[in-house]
Amino acid sequence: MRDRFWEHFALDQLEQDEWEALCDGCGRCCLVKLEDEDTGELHFTDVVCRYLDTQTCRCTSYATRLKVVPDCLQVSVDIAQRYDWLPASCAYRRLARGEQLPTWHPLLTGTRTSVVDAGISVRGKVISEALVPEDLLEERIVQWVR
Ligand code: SF4
Ligand code: SF4
Repeated sequence: MRDRFWEHFALDQLEQDEWEALCDGCGRCCLVKLEDEDTGELHFTDVVCRYLDTQTCRCTSYATRLKVVPDCLQVSVDIAQRYDWLPASCAYRRLARGEQLPTWHPLLTGTRTSVVDAGISVRGKVISEALVPEDLLEERIVQWVR
Protein backbone atom coordinates (compact mmCIF):
# COMPACT_ATOMS: atom_id res chain seq x y z
CA MET A 1 0.00 0.00 0.00
CA ARG A 2 1.23 3.48 -0.76
CA ASP A 3 1.94 5.76 2.19
CA ARG A 4 -1.24 7.62 3.28
CA PHE A 5 -2.77 6.77 -0.10
CA TRP A 6 -6.17 8.10 0.96
CA GLU A 7 -4.75 11.63 1.05
CA HIS A 8 -2.99 11.49 -2.30
CA PHE A 9 -5.23 9.51 -4.64
CA ALA A 10 -8.88 9.56 -5.68
CA LEU A 11 -10.98 6.49 -4.99
CA ASP A 12 -10.88 5.41 -8.63
CA GLN A 13 -7.06 5.53 -8.57
CA LEU A 14 -6.66 3.09 -5.70
CA GLU A 15 -5.06 -0.32 -5.93
CA GLN A 16 -7.16 -3.27 -4.80
CA ASP A 17 -5.52 -3.67 -1.40
CA GLU A 18 -5.87 0.05 -0.73
CA TRP A 19 -9.56 -0.05 -1.62
CA GLU A 20 -10.11 -3.00 0.71
CA ALA A 21 -8.21 -1.31 3.55
CA LEU A 22 -10.67 1.57 3.56
CA CYS A 23 -13.38 -0.72 4.92
CA ASP A 24 -13.27 -0.41 8.70
CA GLY A 25 -15.37 -3.56 9.19
CA CYS A 26 -18.10 -1.74 11.09
CA GLY A 27 -20.91 -3.85 9.60
CA ARG A 28 -23.23 -0.85 9.27
CA CYS A 29 -23.82 -1.39 5.55
CA CYS A 30 -25.32 -4.79 6.47
CA LEU A 31 -28.09 -3.25 8.58
CA VAL A 32 -31.60 -3.56 7.23
CA LYS A 33 -32.78 -0.19 5.94
CA LEU A 34 -36.31 1.11 5.47
CA GLU A 35 -37.21 3.80 2.99
CA ASP A 36 -40.01 6.26 3.72
CA GLU A 37 -42.36 5.90 0.75
CA ASP A 38 -43.43 9.55 0.90
CA THR A 39 -40.13 11.33 1.46
CA GLY A 40 -37.62 8.78 0.19
CA GLU A 41 -35.76 9.19 3.47
CA LEU A 42 -33.68 6.20 4.50
CA HIS A 43 -33.88 4.80 8.04
CA PHE A 44 -31.40 2.36 9.51
CA THR A 45 -32.63 -0.36 11.88
CA ASP A 46 -30.71 -2.41 14.44
CA VAL A 47 -31.61 -5.53 12.47
CA VAL A 48 -28.77 -6.99 10.49
CA CYS A 49 -28.52 -9.26 7.46
CA ARG A 50 -28.79 -12.93 8.36
CA TYR A 51 -25.37 -13.57 6.83
CA LEU A 52 -23.47 -11.21 9.11
CA ASP A 53 -21.61 -12.82 11.98
CA THR A 54 -22.70 -10.44 14.73
CA GLN A 55 -19.57 -11.12 16.82
CA THR A 56 -16.88 -10.62 14.19
CA CYS A 57 -18.98 -8.34 11.94
CA ARG A 58 -17.80 -10.40 8.97
CA CYS A 59 -19.99 -11.67 6.15
CA THR A 60 -20.38 -15.44 6.35
CA SER A 61 -21.26 -15.65 2.67
CA TYR A 62 -18.87 -13.15 1.15
CA ALA A 63 -18.13 -14.99 -2.10
CA THR A 64 -21.78 -15.56 -2.96
CA ARG A 65 -23.29 -12.56 -1.17
CA LEU A 66 -24.55 -10.79 -4.28
CA LYS A 67 -26.45 -13.91 -5.32
CA VAL A 68 -27.91 -14.83 -1.94
CA VAL A 69 -28.83 -11.27 -0.95
CA PRO A 70 -30.04 -9.32 -3.99
CA ASP A 71 -29.85 -5.93 -2.26
CA CYS A 72 -26.40 -6.56 -0.79
CA LEU A 73 -24.18 -3.60 -1.61
CA GLN A 74 -21.24 -3.94 -3.96
CA VAL A 75 -19.57 -0.72 -2.89
CA SER A 76 -18.36 1.38 -5.79
CA VAL A 77 -17.20 4.95 -6.27
CA ASP A 78 -20.56 5.77 -7.83
CA ILE A 79 -22.55 4.37 -4.90
CA ALA A 80 -20.31 6.15 -2.40
CA GLN A 81 -20.80 9.46 -4.16
CA ARG A 82 -24.47 9.40 -5.03
CA TYR A 83 -26.45 7.34 -2.55
CA ASP A 84 -27.13 7.43 1.19
CA TRP A 85 -27.12 3.67 1.57
CA LEU A 86 -23.70 3.83 3.18
CA PRO A 87 -23.58 5.38 6.67
CA ALA A 88 -21.93 8.77 7.10
CA SER A 89 -19.09 7.10 9.04
CA CYS A 90 -18.08 4.93 6.06
CA ALA A 91 -14.67 5.79 4.61
CA TYR A 92 -15.84 5.21 1.03
CA ARG A 93 -18.66 7.66 1.43
CA ARG A 94 -16.53 10.21 3.28
CA LEU A 95 -13.67 10.21 0.80
CA ALA A 96 -16.05 10.24 -2.16
CA ARG A 97 -17.58 13.43 -0.76
CA GLY A 98 -14.31 15.21 0.00
CA GLU A 99 -14.28 14.46 3.75
CA GLN A 100 -11.38 13.14 5.85
CA LEU A 101 -10.99 9.69 7.37
CA PRO A 102 -12.40 9.73 10.91
CA THR A 103 -9.78 9.76 13.69
CA TRP A 104 -10.79 6.27 14.87
CA HIS A 105 -10.22 4.67 11.44
CA PRO A 106 -7.87 1.63 11.57
CA LEU A 107 -5.62 3.17 8.92
CA LEU A 108 -4.91 6.00 11.37
CA THR A 109 -4.97 4.11 14.68
CA GLY A 110 -3.18 0.99 13.47
CA THR A 111 -5.72 -1.31 15.13
CA ARG A 112 -9.15 -2.55 14.09
CA THR A 113 -10.42 -2.46 17.67
CA SER A 114 -10.62 1.33 17.47
CA VAL A 115 -13.81 0.90 15.43
CA VAL A 116 -15.41 -0.95 18.35
CA ASP A 117 -13.97 1.42 20.96
CA ALA A 118 -15.40 4.43 19.10
CA GLY A 119 -18.87 2.86 19.11
CA ILE A 120 -18.98 2.62 15.32
CA SER A 121 -19.04 -1.17 15.00
CA VAL A 122 -22.44 -2.85 15.14
CA ARG A 123 -20.99 -5.54 17.40
CA GLY A 124 -23.21 -6.10 20.43
CA LYS A 125 -25.89 -3.72 19.18
CA VAL A 126 -27.83 -5.69 16.61
CA ILE A 127 -30.12 -8.64 16.09
CA SER A 128 -30.25 -10.95 13.06
CA GLU A 129 -33.11 -10.51 10.61
CA ALA A 130 -33.70 -14.24 11.02
CA LEU A 131 -35.13 -13.42 14.46
CA VAL A 132 -37.31 -10.42 13.59
CA PRO A 133 -40.66 -10.67 11.74
CA GLU A 134 -40.78 -8.27 8.80
CA ASP A 135 -43.84 -6.44 10.13
CA LEU A 136 -41.88 -5.44 13.25
CA LEU A 137 -38.99 -3.85 11.38
CA GLU A 138 -40.40 -0.33 11.71
CA GLU A 139 -40.16 -0.65 15.48
CA ARG A 140 -36.43 -1.31 15.16
CA ILE A 141 -35.46 2.01 13.55
CA VAL A 142 -32.46 3.48 15.36
CA GLN A 143 -30.80 6.88 15.48
CA TRP A 144 -27.22 5.81 16.23
CA VAL A 145 -26.47 5.28 12.57
CA ARG A 146 -26.27 8.34 10.36
S1 SF4 B 1 -20.20 0.74 6.16
FE1 SF4 B 1 -18.37 1.08 4.91
S2 SF4 B 1 -16.67 0.79 6.36
FE2 SF4 B 1 -18.48 -0.11 7.33
S3 SF4 B 1 -18.41 -2.29 6.76
FE3 SF4 B 1 -19.67 -1.22 5.23
S4 SF4 B 1 -18.26 -0.70 3.54
FE4 SF4 B 1 -17.02 -1.19 5.36
S1 SF4 C 1 -24.65 -10.74 2.34
FE1 SF4 C 1 -22.90 -10.30 3.66
S2 SF4 C 1 -22.05 -8.33 2.93
FE2 SF4 C 1 -24.16 -8.55 2.07
S3 SF4 C 1 -25.51 -7.48 3.53
FE3 SF4 C 1 -25.44 -9.65 4.12
S4 SF4 C 1 -23.80 -9.81 5.65
FE4 SF4 C 1 -23.54 -7.86 4.58
